[in-house]
Order: sequence, then structure tokens, then C-alpha cells
Amino acid sequence: MSRVHVRFGSGAEIGNSHHGFRFPPDPNYIGVDFGLQPREPGAGYDGQELSDGRFPEFTIPQLVADIMPHHFITHSHLDHTGALPLLYKMYRARHGAEPNFTLYMSEIALETTERLLWEPTIRMADQDERPRPFDYGDIAGVRSRVRVVRSGEVLDFEHFRAVAFDAGHVPGALYWIFIPKNGADPVFTSGDISFRDLGIVKPAAPIPDHFGRFSVAVMEATYLGKVIPDRKAEMARLRTHAREVLARRGTLVVPVFSIGSRGLEVGADFEKHNIGPVYYDGMLKDAIRLYKDLGVAPAGFSEKNFVRGKSHMEELIRRHEPKVVIAAGGMLPEGSRAWLYAADAIGRYEDGVAIVGFQGPGTPGECLVKSADRGMVQFGSRRIRRGCTVEQFQLSAHADGSEIEALLARLDPDTVVFNHGESANIDAYIAKNSVKFPWKMIRASLNEEVIL
Ligand SMILES: [Zn+2]
Repeated sequence: MSRVHVRFGSGAEIGNSHHGFRFPPDPNYIGVDFGLQPREPGAGYDGQELSDGRFPEFTIPQLVADIMPHHFITHSHLDHTGALPLLYKMYRARHGAEPNFTLYMSEIALETTERLLWEPTIRMADQDERPRPFDYGDIAGVRSRVRVVRSGEVLDFEHFRAVAFDAGHVPGALYWIFIPKNGADPVFTSGDISFRDLGIVKPAAPIPDHFGRFSVAVMEATYLGKVIPDRKAEMARLRTHAREVLARRGTLVVPVFSIGSRGLEVGADFEKHNIGPVYYDGMLKDAIRLYKDLGVAPAGFSEKNFVRGKSHMEELIRRHEPKVVIAAGGMLPEGSRAWLYAADAIGRYEDGVAIVGFQGPGTPGECLVKSADRGMVQFGSRRIRRGCTVEQFQLSAHADGSEIEALLARLDPDTVVFNHGESANIDAYIAKNSVKFPWKMIRASLNEEVIL
């Protein structure tokens, strides 16, 4: 008899994460995450797509996703939780009844997802005069299905137990372990995981000793086979760069994602080393306020350098005094605050843009990183000749190649399924290492079922 089934509602790519596990004789899958891949601006949703359970952003195992009784959520990033209100909406459209599934997530993940992801998704659709993908009622509905969990708390179900532990990465992130009651070894799913001390976010908790070996590990592969340099050295390099820009009386723009602690970490580090003034702008301000409410931000963090609004932003750009601006818009999407500051900075020789996070293919951030000094940059809808410096710093909040291998050595699984990475990189890694490790390695692919 098979004892563990794994099925993927997305491929190995970064975006719209979703997979399911089934532990026979349980007939039901349980779900992990339900993310969203941002759609082309201007594209809408129609009712038929919803009732068919079809969304161009992602494909899900359609037969199982909306009847999964339990959903286990790792963390609050768009590609992991962005589509949860759609799950609620889809269930109602298809069944004409209130959903009876339950979502398990940390309190921090719930609060940050609702306020920094789901609500702004509606506001942005309104702003762009696009149809809303879901409504405030769907947010309230999905929220009503949430059962908040704490790290280390064991949840008991008929066919399995589930327990989550801190995964580092962003505030409130968890990795999940499922213990099937059919005799199979435990199952691990990493979500996004980091083993480094990020200051505000601590490293992932070690796998407790009482778990022996694992049957399956679903492992994020963002930096599979790659090296992330030492974080302290990268922060020091970033400080040196900031001092250089300020010395030439320029502005240093640091784009960050609002969810996560990168903006706070960089800002607090600069202030500690008297680098500044440091301004904060965009949804990052909401994030910092929320993190203060939730006890995540450093006590006494001051809001005095929050940019107050659009006219304050315009005044800061016009005055052009030496400063650091940390602004929301991690990959510099057009129209974000980070994009607006950077669009002004790109043409100026004294300014700089410091890239501190992952840049997705085709984003304005990636175009900027790939541009040549004094070359033309296609920056969203604008074409600008680059005068400013563009430097990248590796402050990544993911496990790198050796950290992934150390984790797998501890889990000692029969099978590893890599997801959340670049397909070509995962394939090359598997081809190179297939005889090196005792575990079987697979790349996740859409709707493929792995059976043990
Ligand atoms: Zn993430």
C-alpha cells in the first residue's frame, strides 16, 4: 500500500506555490500554501474562470484544491498566500455554500498577509480601474477559517499529526512537519527557510531530535547549489557604499519588499552607524507600524523619518540633499515608491541604487541590474540613460546550497522534491549530484503525483 502521496499545484517556479499531501487510507489531500503570480496589469478575472477553478496566475490540482479540508500556510509572501481569498471565493462559487476548510498559520503571517497583501490587492485593482480579484468579504471569509498556530504546537487529526517550527526568512514564517498515522516516516515541507541571524528574524529552529529520518522533503531551491556570502561582510560593504554616495552628496535608494524585515534591518544598521538621514516610504511604513504592533520591530523604533505623503516625497526628490531612502517595491515595479525614487536617481551621477533582494526576470529591478554604466535602461515605461551607480548586496533570507544540503543530511529523506527555484538550475543540480547523495531527487512539476 502507498503511504505518502505528494502532488503539485504549481511547477518548480517561484510564484503561486501550492502542493498537497495525502496519507492513505485518508482519501483527502491536505494543502500547503496557496500563492499568486501577479498578472499582467489590466487583465481581469471573469466569473466563468472562477467557477471553473481556473486562474491564469496559477494552475492548481483542480479536483482536490477546493475540497482539501486543511491548509497549512508557511509565510506571508505573495507567492505563498496571495490567492487564499480566491480559494474561499472559488469554493463558494462552485459549491454555493460556506467553505468548511481550515487554514493553519501563525498570527504574524495572518496579520501581515491581510494588511500588506490581500487588502492592498483590492486597493491596487481599484486604483488601476481593474476588476477586483476578490472582495473584502472574501478576505473576512478566509480569515474566519483561520486557526492560529504557535511554533512547536502539535495538531492532531484522524490520519496524521502536524507541527510547525520557526523557519527564519520573514517574521512569522514556519516550516511544517506531518506525521502520518499509517506508519510512514514524517514528511517535511520547508516553505522559504533561512538559517542566518537576520537581526530581527532569527534562524530557523533545528529539526527536533525525536524525529528520526523522513520519507519526503519538499525543499525550496531558490539558491540550490549556490553560495550566499557572509551576511555581516555584505552589510559592511553596503555601509561603505552608502557612505560613498552620501560623500558625493547623492541619494542612495534601497528598494525592499514591505513584507519581511530587510528594510528595518538596513535602516536600523545605518542609524546605529550614523549613516543618514534615512527616510522610509511606501507600504514599508505600514509594514513597520504593523511589526511594531506585533512586537517584531525593535522597541522605540521612531517614525520621525517616515515620508509623510506624495508632496513630502516630491519635496525630498526636488531638494536633492544627501540621504538614504528605503522604499517599498522590492523588484521596483512601476509606480511603486521605490520605482519613483529610482526613476529620479538613475540619471544622476551622484546618486546610487543598492539592490538588496532577489530580482525576478523582466522586472524593472532586473533591467536596472543588467544595465551598463552610462547605458540606456528600460525602466518600466521610461527609458533613462544611467548615470548613477547600481550595486547588488546579498542579504538574502533563503538557505544557500550548503545550508540546503546540511538540512537534507539531517532529514535523511527517501525522496527530495525541489520546488521554488529555477527549473534549469534544479535540473543541472540533480544531474550533477544524483550519485552523491542517498536520497532520490525530483524537480516539482505541475499536477505530477509522487507516490511512496
Ligand atoms: Zn518568501
